[in-house]
This record gives sequence, C-alpha cells and structure tokens, in this order.
Amino acid sequence: MSFTLAIVGRPNVGKSTLFNRLVGKKLALVDDQPGVTRDLREGAARLGDLRFTVLDTAGLEDATDDSLQGRMRRLTERAVEMADASLFLIDARAGITPNDQMFAEILRRSGRPVILGVNKAEGRQGEAGVLEAYALGLGEPIALSAEHGEGMGELAVALAPLI
Ligand code: GDP
Ligand code: MG
Repeated sequence: MSFTLAIVGRPNVGKSTLFNRLVGKKLALVDDQPGVTRDLREGAARLGDLRFTVLDTAGLEDATDDSLQGRMRRLTERAVEMADASLFLIDARAGITPNDQMFAEILRRSGRPVILGVNKAEGRQGEAGVLEAYALGLGEPIALSAEHGEGMGELAVALAPLI
C-alpha cells in the first residue's frame, strides 16, 4: 500500500494549489467549480524521486461561519487518521490564526508525523510568517510557495525519511 500524506489546514492557505502541483494539473479536479468539490480528494503524487498518495481536504467552501469550525475539525481528524503523515499548511502572509492553533492541537494530539509548511512564503513578505511558525511547536517550518514551486526540494527532504 502506498504511503499517504494528508494536506491539512484552514481554507485559503493553498492546500489545493499544492495538491495540484504534486499530482499534476491534468489529473486533478479543478477546484472551486460548483458540484465537483468533494470533502476529500485523493491523487497520485510525484515529488522528485518520491511517489506517494496525497489527500486534499476540501468541501468547506460552502460552509457557513457557524458550521465551518466543526466541519474543519471533523474532516481534518478523518484525513489525519487515513494518512501516514500530515502536511499542515499555514499562510505566511496571514500569520498564525486561532483556526491554525486548533489544527495544530489536533495534529499534536494525533501523535502522528507532521510536517509544518508555511505557504505563500515567496518574497520578503513571507519571512516573518516563517519565523512565527516556530511558535506552533511542530518542529522546523518549511517555507513553501505552492504557486511558484518554491521549497519543493526541502519538502522532499522532510518527507523522504517518513516514506
Ligand atoms: P485551499 O483553500 O487551502 O485549498 O487554498 P487554494 O489552493 O484554493 O488557494 C487559495 C488562494 O491562495 C488562491 O487564490 C491561490 O492562488 C493562492 N495561493 C496558493 N498558493 C500560493 C502561494 O504559494 N503564494 C501566493 N501568493 N498565493 C498562493
Ligand atoms: Mg482547496
């Protein structure tokens, strides 16, 4: 059975952008199209020499504010349970939010391997966010730009010993 990595984090941090980069745009469903977004998307990922299965947590786009937190929590717990390891994404430009703290708590409690990725870290605007991420207590953050393909080598280095 293939090693499975769950990409988790609150909406808009860039999970689907990274998923599409790892899987290849042609194989992935186009995000944000009404009717095609499911709660969990699975794809065959390629990162350098590594091959693994990747999960994208979605299906939260239509949630109201009231239901969003609970749904995020349940969906994330499910994805983390299904996976061998998780990649927790936060947004370098937004800094750490209360919802990020909630995810960090779920991940710490899971006792499973977690890689902390700070996305949207391209350019100087991202530097403060990367430093701030150490405070989550989930180890050394990896600076990523899913959109521009930055940090993919570092991600592979963090992932390789787990696979
Ligand atoms: P998701 O809700 O976590 O799946 O986030 P999406 O992948 O849908 O991305 C949310 C928004 O962030 C989109 O407008 C993306 O274009 C943007 N985004 C994703 N990755 C990056 C990145 O590395 N840098 C910047 N600046 N924007 C990004
Ligand atoms: Mg998404």
